[in-house]
Amino acid sequence: MGTVVDAANKKANGSIAEKKPTVIFVLGGPGSGKGTQCANIVQHFGYTHLSAGDLLRAEIKSGSENGTMIQNMIKEGKIVPSEVTIKLLQKAIQENGNDKFLIDGFPRNEENRAAFEEVTKIEPEFVLFFDCSEEEMERRLLGRNQGREDDNIETIRKRFNVFLESSLPVVQYYESKGKVRKIDAAKPIEEVFEAVKAVFKAKDEKAAA
Ligand code: UDP
Ligand code: MG
Repeated sequence: MGTVVDAANKKANGSIAEKKPTVIFVLGGPGSGKGTQCANIVQHFGYTHLSAGDLLRAEIKSGSENGTMIQNMIKEGKIVPSEVTIKLLQKAIQENGNDKFLIDGFPRNEENRAAFEEVTKIEPEFVLFFDCSEEEMERRLLGRNQGREDDNIETIRKRFNVFLESSLPVVQYYESKGKVRKIDAAKPIEEVFEAVKAVFKAKDEKAAA
């Protein structure tokens, strides 16, 4: 259909496809350490970190017309409609000079995954999956005190449920394609990063071979 939004999307796709960026999806439950480890990867391996949650929170702050809807969904631990998140991700990729990206906290369900692939034609190089127990994730979320509206016990429980029901199937999908690099994320930050480094070094060695 020829809506203005479709046209804008097509335009964005064109440049994204031309760019052929390397994309790594970083997945794991809330509090599994995605953001922390992405910051380490940026430092050591020169990727650009795009947190879907941060992009959505920035969208709320910017006073966008979707702001209230996004805010309500985050408060309930629900997944924001794909088109909103994908548009933010596309824009961020397009505006950035880098050609390698860590996409953190997305795709969160099958629909996110399929829509991103359909719209951007990008397939992830691999999926970095941070595996962590709920007890440990809950402890971290309640302890992190970043003033996030969704870091309270009621929303945390909802986010865990959404993760199990909607996000884990995405990990399983990529597992069936041999694309998942699973990390034991219940350990201290430095130890987890050692395991992460091994994954990225293996990738670079494969590329050089
Ligand atoms: N969210 C979403 N789609 C995304 C990423 C995030 O709808 O692709 C929303 C969702 O409500 C989620 C919240 O943003 O619960 C926080 O996500 P974030 O990734 O920041 O949390 P984390 O998992 O890192 O604690
Ligand atoms: Mg995060």
